[in-house]
Amino acid sequence: MKPARTASPGAPKPHFATYGKMALNPKIVRVRSSRLADLDMENTVFGEVFSDHMFSMVYQNGRWGSPEIVPYGPVPLSPASIALNYAQAVFEGMKAYRGADGTLRLFRPYRNAARLRASCERLCIPPIGEQVFVDALKALIAVDADWVPALPGCALYIRPVVFSAEDHIEVRPSRRYRFIVVTAPVGRYFTGGGGLSLKVEEYYTRSPAEGGLGASKAAANYAGTILSSEGARREGFDQVLWLDGRERRYVEEAGLMNVFFKIGGRTVTPPIGDSILPGVTRDSLITLLRDRGVPVEEQRIAIDEVLAAARAGTLEEMFASATAAVVAPIGNLPWRGEAIAPREAAPGPLTGALYEELTGIQFGRIADPHGWTEIVETG
Ligand SMILES: *Cc1c(COP(=O)(O)O)cnc(C)c1O
Repeated sequence: MKPARTASPGAPKPHFATYGKMALNPKIVRVRSSRLADLDMENTVFGEVFSDHMFSMVYQNGRWGSPEIVPYGPVPLSPASIALNYAQAVFEGMKAYRGADGTLRLFRPYRNAARLRASCERLCIPPIGEQVFVDALKALIAVDADWVPALPGCALYIRPVVFSAEDHIEVRPSRRYRFIVVTAPVGRYFTGGGGLSLKVEEYYTRSPAEGGLGASKAAANYAGTILSSEGARREGFDQVLWLDGRERRYVEEAGLMNVFFKIGGRTVTPPIGDSILPGVTRDSLITLLRDRGVPVEEQRIAIDEVLAAARAGTLEEMFASATAAVVAPIGNLPWRGEAIAPREAAPGPLTGALYEELTGIQFGRIADPHGWTEIVETG
């Protein structure tokens, strides 16, 4: 019997006595001069240029407090910090989008807030209230509004991170944590012609089968993937296709993205469990597919079933989903000497339509029937 996937009984109770209901009113210390003029959006590599400011808040004496927006820069970290030694750290990933009329939007930020809470609880970190989280993002983006790119397909990537900030090297919960949000302008994610090529990873796993950290955005998960993805890259692939930790048979994720297969008119994506990250993009695509009347099954799918579909000519499309890439077509994933390629040239028609629809909602080009976007007031 699997226990319910909620916080363990020993997990810290949520502490948002200070900012649970009240408006978050961060102290703001602005930069003397903005670095924005130096930004060359056309030649910016993902994750190398950060905007002028960051949000910071500290947990101590049993509560989160002292929210502030300060110039982007290093934060104090003890060499004995548990974050550094034992990876007691969790993060999120999302974007702010600029519409054609200049309006700035966040996409389903309360989903990210809830996922950050779940990640915190799994790592025994005192969670941040959902409204505090969203208010922090909005306040930071309002200050750095000019950093949200106006170029088509570009956006401001948002990276919230929560980590232990106490100096002690005993493995136990900390008494001090820090919550930081930094942002970085990003361009459109290109998969190149023909879609992603994935190496099926048959030895390493992203996450153990059950009871691990795979459903959390825990920093520790990502360190373990670098060896595989570098190996795949050296062999000429774009990324790794992860299989399950028990049998190395069921498809789990594509790199750090969720994965979908369109086979014989229906779409299949692996179900959320202990080893699959509940992507906000994944959840949104499931809704958009249902809106279109395309059947979606959240079901385990074995790599040999994908191969059988490719052989039978019923594998129509494959795509991966995540905030950074939105919807990325998968062009091929050779397995045991045989090509697994979709019938439709990547990007297939459904992949392309989903990309257009989701980015249409995010950038405010089309109606938002599910109320997914949140406007950031910049006044
Ligand atoms: C963040 C992440 C995703 C995608 O989640 P989105 O909310 O759609 O960005 C998928 N897989 C892994 C392992 C991730 O870390």
